[in-house]
Amino acid sequence: MSVEYKISFPHMGNYYIPIATFVKNTLNAKICLPPKITKKTLELGTKHSPDFVCVPFKYNLGNYIEALENGANVLIQAGGGCRFGYYSEVQEEILRNLGYNFKFFNITSRTFKPLLYYKMFKEINPMLTIKNFLYSFYLIYKQIAVLDKFEDYIRENIGFQINDGDFKRLEKKFHDELITIEKIKDLKSISIKYTKLLKEVPINKPNDCLRVGIVGEIYVLMEPFSSCFLEEELAKKGIEVKRYINISYLLFSKEHKKTNTLKLAKPYLQYNIGADGVDSVAHSKVLAKKGFDGIIHIKPFGCTPEINCMPILEKISEDYKIPILYFSFDSQTSETGVKTRLEAFHDMLLMRKEKNKKWKELT
Ligand code: SF4
Repeated sequence: MSVEYKISFPHMGNYYIPIATFVKNTLNAKICLPPKITKKTLELGTKHSPDFVCVPFKYNLGNYIEALENGANVLIQAGGGCRFGYYSEVQEEILRNLGYNFKFFNITSRTFKPLLYYKMFKEINPMLTIKNFLYSFYLIYKQIAVLDKFEDYIRENIGFQINDGDFKRLEKKFHDELITIEKIKDLKSISIKYTKLLKEVPINKPNDCLRVGIVGEIYVLMEPFSSCFLEEELAKKGIEVKRYINISYLLFSKEHKKTNTLKLAKPYLQYNIGADGVDSVAHSKVLAKKGFDGIIHIKPFGCTPEINCMPILEKISEDYKIPILYFSFDSQTSETGVKTRLEAFHDMLLMRKEKNKKWKELT
């Protein structure tokens, strides 16, 4: 009897959209998205994870458990150059020990190996042709670029919308259309349509608004639940938010700009310190030089590459006279604590800006 495959993967921001489109266009199988991340997801993941593991592992594990409980029987995991590289093996083992029965696709190679992935996917859909697979790969690349561009604009402007909820409503419509695409030409027309609609959302943005850059570890940067919706909190205070890291950056820039990023990070860094550490240093320096009012550095508790770059950020803060606020997130992080510290940071940035303005007027 043939098995009906139900595919699932962990959440990370809105990237479920391109992954779901890719799975739908190549695997001819059902997608079983994990429910949206809630406290329960994190509790489930934490309960079954080793204590010392970094928090993205716990979120991913919670997502898997919830998806398996909803009937998923194929799980996909990626991997990277730090502890993320070991996530898949350990998570698979934990889930099997919990008694779940599933297929596990481990895409942990750091180098791009489309033929290897093609073979994996063919196990699920024997009718899959290499042409269709490569086309879908190209489509997902393009789709991610469109998604990220849309989000960048929102991040910079949502704090200044005149009518509450305008951007969120538009974003919902955009996502609903984006997830249905099958062809590049559909993507092009969606991109043109929504770029225009975005620009039409009425905003009232002062030229000298507060501008804050966010740097740090990739998961907490991209999954809003894991950072207690920090970007939304900043927007509520009328702050323009800049963040360089997203999946487009990982796919299109990180590897081939590696030498350049290290150059940017000089004289503070001479060597790569793993994961996103060099990016955090280089981007902080760029933000400081561009005259941003403040920087927020975020990381999961115990994330070694980001811990290594913190003393360097202190130096940048001193040299460029730019305040940096640090957050470390874990399963125990209190949302109220985060909000209180953000409130204080915001007040301090406002006071500094006011003081600098007065000083300029006097001189
Ligand atoms: S970058 Fe840090 S938090 Fe993220 S997986 Fe690696 S060690 Fe863990």
